[in-house]
Amino acid sequence: MENPNCPKYLQPHLERGAEFHGYLSPGLVIGIFMVDLAKELLGPCDLIDAVVETRSCVPDAIQLMTSCTYGNGWMATKDWDKMALTLYDKEAREGVRVFVDLDKVKKYPLVHQWYMKFGDVDKDEVSRQLIDIGRDILSWQRVRVTHPRKAKRAFVVCSSCGETHPASDGELCQRCSGSDDYYEITDKGMVARQQVWPMVK
Ligand code: ZN
Repeated sequence: MENPNCPKYLQPHLERGAEFHGYLSPGLVIGIFMVDLAKELLGPCDLIDAVVETRSCVPDAIQLMTSCTYGNGWMATKDWDKMALTLYDKEAREGVRVFVDLDKVKKYPLVHQWYMKFGDVDKDEVSRQLIDIGRDILSWQRVRVTHPRKAKRAFVVCSSCGETHPASDGELCQRCSGSDDYYEITDKGMVARQQVWPMVK
């Protein structure tokens, strides 16, 4: 979505974002502007860590525009459903929290309707408007990050399934203890080398 009001340097992020995310969702557009603003306010920084306060859309903007990913553990995720994120200096633990400011959103009726989930809206149109609006709906605050660093955890073997899990979970893994189950086994497979790599002889 070419837009003359959108800074040129953000255009590649919007394009790559649409590709990575599957489509250019409003949340992703906001996320891209949020990360851009947070990086600018944070300034030069050797190691950036991130905390994102929603599990949808915004994390992908962080993964695209910083070196923080789900997989490398430099991005912590809060399941708060808030359009907000913090980028911070990993050593100093000082950073910037950028968030969508409802008072500013109210100036834009369609975006407001989408943001408050007041019924169905044309998301493509919301995305188009958001590219136009850019930073105008964002606010920020300087913060010190207090959440604990992740301690290294030893692993043990589950006495029920035989798979490994953090010792802190106890004798049984979270699945076998029933505390966080998500599947039942319907078939057991054997994996042979040629099944995994059919092209390798
Ligand atoms: Zn188990």
